[in-house]
Amino acid sequence: MKDLIDKIYKHGNKEFLELLDSRIEDNKKTFIITANPETLMYSKTDEEILNMLNDKQNLIVPDGIAVVKAAKILKIDIKERIAGIDICTHLLEYASAHKKKVFLFGSAQNVIDGMKKVIANKYSGIDLLGTENGYVKDKDKVFEKIAKLKPDIVMVALGIPSQEKLIYKHLSKFKHGVFIGVGGSFDVISTVKKRAPKLFIKLNLEWLYRIICEPKRLKRFYNNNVKFILNIKKYK
Ligand code: UDP
Repeated sequence: MKDLIDKIYKHGNKEFLELLDSRIEDNKKTFIITANPETLMYSKTDEEILNMLNDKQNLIVPDGIAVVKAAKILKIDIKERIAGIDICTHLLEYASAHKKKVFLFGSAQNVIDGMKKVIANKYSGIDLLGTENGYVKDKDKVFEKIAKLKPDIVMVALGIPSQEKLIYKHLSKFKHGVFIGVGGSFDVISTVKKRAPKLFIKLNLEWLYRIICEPKRLKRFYNNNVKFILNIKKYK
């Protein structure tokens, strides 16, 4: 686990987004893995996830305060949390400003419809190649279609770890592009769901807000976060 945490991006949000912009400008294929305790815990039982995290081509960012805290315990210097939703918003802004080709895959159809409206109103420079909701049966087929469109940015909202696994499975079909699993980001950006109030975000309590709004998340939180921290303490 320690060597995986050591692979995570160590600088802050600003530096990461600048790096991302320059990679898009240089047409460098980039798969961003937003690592939270759940992702890292999967690496213990799922070889595909372990390979994906070990693959030096991929950029892993610390999307979860527990990951930043775990790094501290292990004396690895990770500056701050980089939230997937902030990367998603930045990519939409960047794509609009630079007229980039974008494909959105995942989340419910009403959320996708909301995203289309947000793009038309707020990010109208985007060349939206297409969208597909995340409840279609054959998700591989969707990716084969996406590959033919040669997009600059592909955002996939299917939840952890399906979104990452699907991207990684099909990554070799693409010559360029930014790929990221964005979890519940479309739900929030489309305004179907609310993001945590700023104070929660500032106090690193966004996870708590999500549990308050959706208590069924508690079990998932316990299974991943508590076990993760116990795991890290073993290494100390
Ligand atoms: N989702 C989907 N297809 C599925 C399962 C989930 O499109 O088969 C979507 C779901 O609608 C939601 C997102 O994936 O928009 C997952 O959001 P969640 O908040 O659970 O992700 P997290 O950020 O917690 O990983």
